[in-house]
Amino acid sequence: MWHDFEMHRTRVSFLCAVCSLAAAAILIRAAAPDDISEGAHKLHFSSIVLDTHDDTTQRLFSKDFDLGKRNPEGHVDIPRMREGGMNAIFFSIWIDGRIMGPPAVQKALDQIDAVRENVKKYSTEMMLARTAEDVRRAHAQGKIAALMGVEGGHMIGNDIRLVRIFADLGVRYMTLSHFYNDEWADSSTDKPAHNGLTDFGKDIIREMNRQGMLVDISHVSDKTFYDALEVSKAPLIASHSSCRALCNHPRDMSDDMIKALAAKGGVIQINYEKSFIDQAYKDASDKETGGVVQNRVVADAMKNCNNDEACVGREMANMEKKLTEEGKLPHVSWERIIDHIDHAVKLVGAEHVGLGSDFDGASMPEGMEDCSKLPKITEALLRKGYSEGDIRNILGGNTLRIMEQSERVSRELRASSGR
Ligand SMILES: [Zn+2]
Repeated sequence: MWHDFEMHRTRVSFLCAVCSLAAAAILIRAAAPDDISEGAHKLHFSSIVLDTHDDTTQRLFSKDFDLGKRNPEGHVDIPRMREGGMNAIFFSIWIDGRIMGPPAVQKALDQIDAVRENVKKYSTEMMLARTAEDVRRAHAQGKIAALMGVEGGHMIGNDIRLVRIFADLGVRYMTLSHFYNDEWADSSTDKPAHNGLTDFGKDIIREMNRQGMLVDISHVSDKTFYDALEVSKAPLIASHSSCRALCNHPRDMSDDMIKALAAKGGVIQINYEKSFIDQAYKDASDKETGGVVQNRVVADAMKNCNNDEACVGREMANMEKKLTEEGKLPHVSWERIIDHIDHAVKLVGAEHVGLGSDFDGASMPEGMEDCSKLPKITEALLRKGYSEGDIRNILGGNTLRIMEQSERVSRELRASSGR
C-alpha cells in the first residue's frame, strides 16, 4: 500500500462486552477516500499521465511560487506531479483575450520563455517535449515531459507568421479563441462576430496543420468548431472541455459535437472546473459571482493582488470557501469528473477521451484539490470495469496518438508543398 496509509487509519477501541475486565483495542481501517488499490496504483504509476491543460505558467511569474518545491497553494508543482503520477503536462500560454496585437505576442513570448527556463532549471526532473516520441522518451528516463499550448488565437497578434515561430519554440497546440472572439474566430462565450472562422482563420488552421500544431477547439463557438473540423487535415482536440449533456455550459461540448469530433479521430480532454461539470454549481455560481467568464471575484482579486497569480488563486479559494460555507455555492465531488469521462466514453468510445484538468486555472471539485489526487481517477475507472488498456488511453495514450497523427499530417503537407 502507499505511503500515507498510516495517516488514514482510524484507531477504534472498545470494551469487550462479555469480559468486563478485558479491554480490546481493535484497529479498523477507515474507508479513506484517497486510498488507492494496489492494482490502480500499479496501473496509474506505470502509465503516461498526460494533462492537456494547466495554467501553472502564470504562477511562474509569482514571487511566492517555485515549480520545484511543494507549494502550499495552487494545483501543480513537481513534487505534487510526482505524487500524482502526472508525468506529462501542457503548460498553457495565456493572457486575457481582450488584449490583442503586439502586447499579446509579447506576453506569449514571455511565458514561452518562462516555461523553457523552468524546464532548464529543473532539467533533472523535466524535459521539453515537442512530439509524442519525446513524451515517451521523457517517461522512459523518469522525467516529466513539459509541453506548451497557446490558449487563444489573440496571442498571435493577427499575424500568421507567429504560428510558425511559436511552433519552432515548442508550442504543440493552439486554442482558437479564449472567452472573447479574436480577430478570426468566434468564442462560445461572446456574441458571434465572424460566423465561426473567417477565411484568415481557415488559413491559420492550414498553417497549424503544416506545423504539426494541434488545433484545439475548447472555448470556441459551436460554429467555429464545425468550421475547424471541416478545414483541418488533422484530428482536433478539445484540450479542456466537458459534456454539455451533464452541465449546460457553452464552454462544454454537445453530444453531437463530441460525436463529430470523434468521427474525425479527435479527443475531448475532460475539464474539472466545477462550473463545467456540475449544473447546480454552475447555476449558483452564475448568480453569486457572475460565472466563470464575467467573474466579479476574479476581477476584484486581480485588482487587489496587482495581477499576481498566486495571490489571485489564494483570494479566489478563500472567497469560494466562504460562499460554500454560507450555503451559497453547493459542494461538488470529484466524482463528477468520472461522470463526464464515462458519458463521453459511452457516447464515442474510450479512444476519444482524455484528461484536461485546467489545474491552476479553475476551481477544483472536492477530492481533486490538486494533481496529487489523480490516481483516484484510475481507481474509479477500474472500479467501473474499464479495461487497463482503455484507462491507459484515457490517461494519455489517446493524446499521444493524436499528436502522432498531427505530426504525420505535417510531414505529408510539408512534402507536398516543398516547405
Ligand atoms: Zn481555458
